Amino acid sequence: MRERIMLEKVLIANRGEIAVRIIRTCKQMNIRTVAVHSEIDSRSRHVQEADEASLLGGDRPEDSYLNKSKILESALKHGCQAVHPGYGFLSENAAFAKMVEEAGLVFIGPPPQAIMLLGDKVASKKLALGAGVPVVPGPVEPLSDPAELIRAAEGVGFPLLLKPAAGGGGKGMRIVRERKELAQALQVCQEETRKAFGDDRIFLERYIERPRHIEIQVLADAFGRIIHLGERECSIQRRYQKIIEETPSTALTEEKREMLGRWACDLARAAGYRNAGTVEFIMDSKGDFFFLEMNTRLQVEHPVTEWVTGLDLVELQLRIAAGEPLPLNQDQVRRRGWAMEARICAEDPLRNFLPSTGIITRYAVPRGKNIRVDSGIEAGSVVSVHYDSLLAKVTAWGETREQARETLIQALNGYHVEGVITNLDFVNSILTHPAFIAGDLSTDFIAEHFEEGRRKVPCSTETLHFMVIAATLVYHNRNNLVRESLKPMASHVGQTSRPAEWVNYKVKAEKDILDIRIFKKNVPREWNVLVNEVPYQVKTPEFEFFRRRLRLKINDQAPMFRLYYEGNFIGVAYNGEVRTCEIYTPREWTLSRYMPKPKAAEDRNELLCPMPGLVVTILVKPGDRVFRGQDLISIESMKMETFVASPADRVVEAVLVRPGQPVETGQVLMTFKKEKPPAVTV
Ligand code: ADP
Repeated sequence: MRERIMLEKVLIANRGEIAVRIIRTCKQMNIRTVAVHSEIDSRSRHVQEADEASLLGGDRPEDSYLNKSKILESALKHGCQAVHPGYGFLSENAAFAKMVEEAGLVFIGPPPQAIMLLGDKVASKKLALGAGVPVVPGPVEPLSDPAELIRAAEGVGFPLLLKPAAGGGGKGMRIVRERKELAQALQVCQEETRKAFGDDRIFLERYIERPRHIEIQVLADAFGRIIHLGERECSIQRRYQKIIEETPSTALTEEKREMLGRWACDLARAAGYRNAGTVEFIMDSKGDFFFLEMNTRLQVEHPVTEWVTGLDLVELQLRIAAGEPLPLNQDQVRRRGWAMEARICAEDPLRNFLPSTGIITRYAVPRGKNIRVDSGIEAGSVVSVHYDSLLAKVTAWGETREQARETLIQALNGYHVEGVITNLDFVNSILTHPAFIAGDLSTDFIAEHFEEGRRKVPCSTETLHFMVIAATLVYHNRNNLVRESLKPMASHVGQTSRPAEWVNYKVKAEKDILDIRIFKKNVPREWNVLVNEVPYQVKTPEFEFFRRRLRLKINDQAPMFRLYYEGNFIGVAYNGEVRTCEIYTPREWTLSRYMPKPKAAEDRNELLCPMPGLVVTILVKPGDRVFRGQDLISIESMKMETFVASPADRVVEAVLVRPGQPVETGQVLMTFKKEKPPAVTV
């Protein structure tokens, strides 16, 4: 039993969208908030929206958001009663939770012992077994001796998965498909594990092919009441990181949901759990479920659960932490409709998802019924190399999965972020993919259906036609506006004296070339359009120069487009497809010449930096002979170390950077000698 505590002021030990999200609920509950921040975050949204703020220190997480004593000191200095850790950073750090409690404050999360127990993947697997919850087959003990590991692997069979016992974020996991790959995979996995977690214990389990990831949200109060709020399907992942989440899952029946819910509650009970937590399962192709791990914090994807249950999970976390009993029991949990979430990250899908940083120069969020945006950014925000690349989450609700999906797609079509590159269109191309529509999901979805950040199947003809219609009408009207403005004052603005007629264009939308004919009707802003002879009825808004978002009416639809301008080209993003359109009159088309291509990377004598970050290691020195694809230097950005490889066979001339140095995209890292090295003959 715990006594009830009046929460009047809470410190939020986090940043970005989750800090902003927690502040929102605190405001509704009349709880004052204290934000903590690093120097670079001084003007960020979470700092502005909190009632008070406390500077922790430098920009590196160790100096700020991971600095336990500094955070605790701030909480005490500002007179807080509790600390909300959000997710990531210190949220699953038992030592921090303990420090907070020992200082007489409330940690908004489970007791430190539960964090410790569940944070260890092997210990939690044991716990699950004890609670009668099935786990993925494999020995339930961590191993570090290679001989023992090899013996254990023989027992599990192939394919198998090597996992760091202290793991998290998918780091260090390795699939081993055949016996002969085992020894090397073990060595690499152990090295990575040591580096990432300072611990080289590994365990192994059977690798489940094409699994689905389905997790259960649980809530437990201090009075022993434990309930679950149903599942979230999180199978759309890239490198073990979730991208799209939804609830309900298309894979569950009501009985299965109940079974998983029961297992999740049993496990939470066995762990002495309190507050909000998530029990993760994977499902194999036969429909069998296995426990993966329990996350002892609020999940990134909690909004989908909030949409369908109508509950505020942060509010419940605060109430439980304050010693209040859960306000509802299992029978009172109602779920209605469908919710879907997309994670928006600062990364470039077309350049192998390298992190992107910079200042947000333009920003417009989608609004509307059944759309929710959780974001930590605004125009002017700095997206730096120091933190996670998650910028925002967009969630949509509908009575059915189709309605939720459609609403989410339209929301993403209208989400405009300029200044940093995001995965907005990549996410949308997943949502519009036929396999996603069919609900045929697995954690291999991206690998199966995408290549180099683009989907393997082409977009629909309708999508392509809509995009060219948007680009052509913008182009046409822009030219008309220019013509109007050049006319003598006497003529009436907006009225053309020429009789209405069909205007022809040829549009090159990257690899597609289309014929477009447009005809201005006698009704304001209405057009007849033919795309390759397919007729469309189009209604446009008032046109202005360089608008970034455009909603058209095309037949009975109201698509929203994002536009960008590159010289004479008009770029359109819609439903996950991005095309740069070159628009020509028939005469211009016959005269047109293709632009010369920019010099290819392999023809340059320089190694260019692919992304902003900090130099970690330099693997070569002047005079070294290097081969195409060989790693030359590593750069750290947004918690990820990326190796930059040589674009061609070359000899290093000079290294222009040193470890620890901040570098920018396009900066020359190394130069190569002009003459190519002689070919090696074997
Ligand atoms: P982490 O804590 O590092 O995120 P998890 O154990 O939660 O690691 O696993 C993350 C993801 O890895 C899962 O969502 C799933 O996609 C995949 N995964 C984990 N274990 C297995 C397994 N035994 N077989 C197949 N995929 C797995």
